[in-house]
Amino acid sequence: MKIRILKALKENKDGYISGAKLAENLEVSRTAVWKHINQLKKEGYNIVSVSSKGYRLLEDQSLMTREEIFLGIKDLSFLDEVYYFDTIGSTNTYIKEIEGKNSGQQLLVISDEQTAGRGRLGRKWESPKGDGIWMSLLLRPRISPFEASKITQIAAAALVEALRNVLGIDVKIKWPNDLILSGKKLAGVLTEMNAELSSVNYVVLGCGINVNTIEFPDDLKDKATSLKLELDKEINKKDIIVSFIRAFYKLYSSFEKAGDYEETLKICRENSATLGKQVRVISGDTVEIGKAIDLNSNGELIIEDENGDQKTIFYGEVSVRGINGYL
Ligand code: ADP
Repeated sequence: MKIRILKALKENKDGYISGAKLAENLEVSRTAVWKHINQLKKEGYNIVSVSSKGYRLLEDQSLMTREEIFLGIKDLSFLDEVYYFDTIGSTNTYIKEIEGKNSGQQLLVISDEQTAGRGRLGRKWESPKGDGIWMSLLLRPRISPFEASKITQIAAAALVEALRNVLGIDVKIKWPNDLILSGKKLAGVLTEMNAELSSVNYVVLGCGINVNTIEFPDDLKDKATSLKLELDKEINKKDIIVSFIRAFYKLYSSFEKAGDYEETLKICRENSATLGKQVRVISGDTVEIGKAIDLNSNGELIIEDENGDQKTIFYGEVSVRGINGYL
């Protein structure tokens, strides 16, 4: 109901709408309208009430609430619920905890802060309060476990699209899961899955984007950057989230419903920080050195060594010459 009241206020934002009219249109009592309006005010919406005229919403484009995100994506009928937290341990971990209670549902969880944000292999992901977009999706793709890594590439491609659409910037994908701006890490994707041998139960897709960070811890100073540091302007997080979810949905649904992965591959190839470069890949105990020459049709990295022998890399730590101090 709160969402519907907000929507009605947004549609009437050039004038006032009376409590009686809202109640009549939405078929609820005036007291219910009043209660929801008060809740919206508490969440930060600037709603003026004038006794003879009714309510009017003074829109603040930078306001980020669960409702704003929900309104921006609800026509996609892709996510069942959006959760928004001030603080949380890790959005990926939270989804894994609640997944069983939300059977069949797909969710978006966003937090202003993560106190135990994670990267791959249990590494730490710095997620200070208000500094970034820390979010995870719970997805239930009907795919084989072997295809799950494609979702990481879909997310990376969607981040490229969102940042281009909202801010007009070109970020590059360092295969498989980092987004690079000015040679430094701007964002990362962490995909985790729960699967049987032949089918995926669920996938948790986490994305961390550094937005307002001014100062990184010493060990990240030369490696990481934020939108604020690079663009020196106020960034609207809500627009980035909504644009990301919309771009992701488009690429993900054609992949999940029709097995079509072409558009994702195209974006990943055209916006790669890795292809054409000399790379070093560490997977477990093995180290491969070569030139990254292409992504295959599954989005896996093909490298070529100095003898012209080609290898397909499925996962691993990839260092790209020229990025993060690899010379
Ligand atoms: P990679 O993809 O580079 O192998 P991970 O996905 O494991 O890295 O991410 C964790 C690593 O990212 C950490 O070990 C740290 O070096 C770096 N890191 C942690 N927090 C941030 C952040 N907010 N921005 C950029 N890099 C970060």
